Amino acid sequence: MSQSETRKGCCACGSLSFAVQGKPLFSLYCHCTPPFRVPERRVLLTSSGAVFVSTMHFTSSAFSWTHAQEIEPAVEQMEDYVLYRCKTCRSCAATQMSDTQNWAIRGTQLERDEAGKIINWEGVKPTGHIFYDTRVIDVADDLPKWEGHSGKSNRLS
Ligand SMILES: [Zn+2]
Repeated sequence: MSQSETRKGCCACGSLSFAVQGKPLFSLYCHCTPPFRVPERRVLLTSSGAVFVSTMHFTSSAFSWTHAQEIEPAVEQMEDYVLYRCKTCRSCAATQMSDTQNWAIRGTQLERDEAGKIINWEGVKPTGHIFYDTRVIDVADDLPKWEGHSGKSNRLS
């Protein structure tokens, strides 16, 4: 896969769309339980709705919005990041880290082919598990598993 390769993604209804360029800074399966991400307790399409999610971060220059200009996301300022939520389906399309300005998206949001497979998944496939200590399911793979953040917490396996 070339570094210039573009992947497309969107919110749950497709109103908000984005493109990411090249490889992510990192791609991990996240097992955290973040109730703070669903302040209205209606949106279960973020982390809390899944057993775990794949999260990947891209530099600010690798991320761009591609939806129609008249569509604006609902912006929520959180403690460490800004969350961009779709006003139609209320799902989170992307988050931007306040310190690094990097963008975080989820693997499930990326465009799929006709067989339902994420296009060019190999190039963005997660390389480990984070917050594995709060998991609700054991995952039998060979990827490193961290209690909390990758490289900054105890490695469990
Ligand atoms: Zn939407």
